[in-house]
This record gives sequence, structure tokens and C-alpha cells, in this order.
Amino acid sequence: MITFVGAGPGAEDLITVRGQKLIQEADIVIYAGSLVNPGLLSECREDCQIYNSAKMTLEEVMEVMLDGQEKGRKIVRLHTGDPCLYGAIREQMDELEKRGIPYEVCPGVSSFCGAAAALNAEYTLPGVSQSVVITRMAGRTPVPDRESIASFAAHQATMVIFLSTGMLRELSAELIRGGYAPETPAAVVYKATWPEEKVLRCTVETLAQTAEAEGVRKTALIVVGNVLEGEYERSKLYDPSFTTEYREGKSNE
Ligand code: SAH
Repeated sequence: MITFVGAGPGAEDLITVRGQKLIQEADIVIYAGSLVNPGLLSECREDCQIYNSAKMTLEEVMEVMLDGQEKGRKIVRLHTGDPCLYGAIREQMDELEKRGIPYEVCPGVSSFCGAAAALNAEYTLPGVSQSVVITRMAGRTPVPDRESIASFAAHQATMVIFLSTGMLRELSAELIRGGYAPETPAAVVYKATWPEEKVLRCTVETLAQTAEAEGVRKTALIVVGNVLEGEYERSKLYDPSFTTEYREGKSNE
């Protein structure tokens, strides 16, 4: 059996209970060494075979999986955060499907949630934004033209930008071009939930200089939006006058 497991954003105890159990039981673990906390591997059995996929191609990863599967091994493919975001899992799943090999996914805590926790932020505040755009700048991996940062910025929704810490000047310019005011609150969250986490609050305009001043060049998320600071409306759900399925609202009279 092959399970794609979300390792969580960094802190060793932010993997799910299910994910941890799968690691403890695994015969083979292939982990994304660039970002998965190696401390998680201390849960592996002594005889577990461990591979770092940062040094491997898709073909090499598949070879390990297929060989292990043939021998009836329990295989964990450990991805950072939740595997559904920038995890390159689809291409692995398709290879397994082609061969009729069963697999499962065990979700994880994505770093965009880790960053919200580090910021004590609620991404969806009534009267401010009810949507979160998860995106990235185009790098060596292109982004479709219709998904430009500027086009998303036009919505003024909360944005969490992955894989873009090396392009913060361009990112600021695109956000402002799209319609965010330069003074819109923003943050650079470096290694959210790791011991070396850094939370740098700034504005859309000062993203690059803020990251540079702290020497942050990678492994960071950029969070942008008015949810980070300022006014919002109270929730309806917890308003005394609001009736829900579970609670009768009391009139103010
Ligand atoms: N699947 C992962 C994302 C992998 S893409 C997830 O759900 O989080 C790798 C990018 O994610 C990094 O370049 C960085 O932008 C971001 N990232 C991953 N872990 C992070 C962390 N702990 N703190 C801040 N950013 C992180």
C-alpha cells in the first residue's frame, strides 16, 4: 500500500495522528527533504528504508515505489504541508493508476494555515474578505496568464503567495498594479511553526526590503490583505440576535 502523507508545515508535532502512525508502521519512507522536518523520521522503525526525494527524479521515486509495492511493503510518500498544494502528487498518482496500484492520501496542515497561526490571523473576516487566493509568482514553473497576481489583486481578497520569496520586488509591483494600495498590510512568514520561524509584518510596498533586512530569501509565505489589520464586522454566527440551527436568537427589545 502506498500513502501520500502530509507532513505538516514544519513543527514535528503538527503532523496528523494518522500520518504519524503511518510513518511508524512504514517499511519505506520517501520524504521531500527540501522542506519536511527530518525530525519526523525519528518515528520510523529501525529497519525502515528512507529516501530523500529532493535528490531524486520522478522516475527514481516511482522505481522505489514500484519495487516496494511488488514486495508487499508499506510505503509512505511524505510531502510538506498538505500534499494537494504544489506537491507534484498527481503525476505520481497517475503512474500508480496506470499500473493498477492502489494508494491513499492522508492530509496534512498546510503552511498557509501555519502562517495564519503565526500571525494570529483570520483570513476570512466579515466585511473585509471572505475569500483566500492561494497562488504564486511565475518562476521556472510558469503560471497561466489568466492567473496573474495583478488579476487576483483586483479582488482585494486575502492572498497567500507561495514560492515567491525570491521575487518580492516584482510581486509588490504586480499587487499594486492589480489594485492593492501600497500601504495594504502584508507579512512575510519564514518557516512558519519551525523553531526558527520569523514573522515580519510590513505593507505591500515594503515586502522586499522587509525580507532583505532579515535575510529571508526562501521558505516563506507572503500574506496580503486588510484582514491583517484594521476594522471588520462582528460575525453573524455568534451575534445574540441571530438565529441558527442550534440557537434561538434573542431580540434586542
Ligand atoms: N504543500 C506545501 C507547499 C509546498 S511548496 C504546503 O501545503 O505548505 C513549497 C513552498 O511552500 C515554499 O517555497 C514556501 O513558499 C512554502 N512553505 C512551505 N513550508 C513553509 C513554512 N513552514 N513556512 C513558510 N512557508 C512555507
